[in-house]
Amino acid sequence: MEFKIPLFKLNFDEAEEKAVMDTIRSKWISTGPRCAEFEKQFSAALQVKHAVSLSNCTTALHLAFKLTGVGAGDEVICPSMTFVASINAIRYVDAVPVFCDIAGPEDMNIDAGKIESLITEKTRAILVVHFAGFPCDMDRIMAIAKKHDLRVIEDACHGPLSVYHGKKLGTIGDVGCFSFFSNKNISTGEGGMLVTNNDEYADRARLLRSHGMTTMSYQRASGHATTYDVVDFGYNYRMNDILAALGIEQLKKLPGDLEQRVAVRKAYEQAFADVEGVFVPFANTPEFVSNYIFPIVLKNSDATKRDEVRNALHARGIQTSVHYPAAHRFSIYKSDRHELPATEYVTDNEITLPMYSSLTNEEVGFIVSTLKDILGENNHSN
Ligand SMILES: *Cc1c(COP(=O)(O)O)cnc(C)c1O
Repeated sequence: MEFKIPLFKLNFDEAEEKAVMDTIRSKWISTGPRCAEFEKQFSAALQVKHAVSLSNCTTALHLAFKLTGVGAGDEVICPSMTFVASINAIRYVDAVPVFCDIAGPEDMNIDAGKIESLITEKTRAILVVHFAGFPCDMDRIMAIAKKHDLRVIEDACHGPLSVYHGKKLGTIGDVGCFSFFSNKNISTGEGGMLVTNNDEYADRARLLRSHGMTTMSYQRASGHATTYDVVDFGYNYRMNDILAALGIEQLKKLPGDLEQRVAVRKAYEQAFADVEGVFVPFANTPEFVSNYIFPIVLKNSDATKRDEVRNALHARGIQTSVHYPAAHRFSIYKSDRHELPATEYVTDNEITLPMYSSLTNEEVGFIVSTLKDILGENNHSN
């Protein structure tokens, strides 16, 4: 079925078409000058020293744990309320995810107040995920990390250009990771970026993304090198120049796209002001936020009711999603004991509504009024 209002729309036009054609015509399509340019623009936009382009965010997270020395048997405190890639990346280095609950339906980020009780001698790092681009309580988390000598990895996939106390998300912890998968704020189909202010981490990330080799094909093809050594045990985690060309165009559009998303969120907040049956998380966030998605959480509800509401929205042409099925309930993680009541309530009752820059006020009005109908809340208004 074609939805009247999809969850997401790609913000692509002739600029992306031209960028790809120009790259193809340049005859250099693998990692090369466009990747370098995208990295330069990205680090400038985030005011961070280094940006390393990668194949996706999952590989960025894997490298983040390697760079920060997280290894076999180490524990990483993380939310369960995230895309499973965040958790799988912890396992790639044979470390153990230790799930921490979220604050609640009005703040879907990791509950900083619960982190310290989960720290053991084995804890090495905290993985934060800035949900929908809304910042975690980074002052408190960085203070805990300092006190217990822990590294902080930011999964900032949802938050390019989101701000926390004047700093861009992804630049506050030791390493920040971004995704350019199709439905992210910057879309290149697949792609990722690792950012850090640590020179050693950046150098090693560049080695590890390309088999631990000291030079890459582009340097050899352009006569800057003729051979290479292999000095570390690496991977093929490179981005390519066709995707980087898309990324450069998308990054140019990002500030304008996000401004429009701020207006879409405002329209939603106004329309939801008199709706009794839903929480709108992250109300009154003071600083600039990317608004990657627009989540709501049903009150006095359960998973069955939530699914009925979603089905009714779909029948009226409105696409929705769930962010996320909680990681700790997936078959491969559920054998461990977990006490995550807020995560479980929210994952059972969350609905992600359409969010993209070209979503109109009329469409937002239609979505919220349809939802009110479904929840039986339209009786008073007419
Ligand atoms: C999209 C996403 C990822 C994975 O990114 P890929 O680029 O697809 O590997 C990881 N974490 C979060 C929170 C995401 O939204």
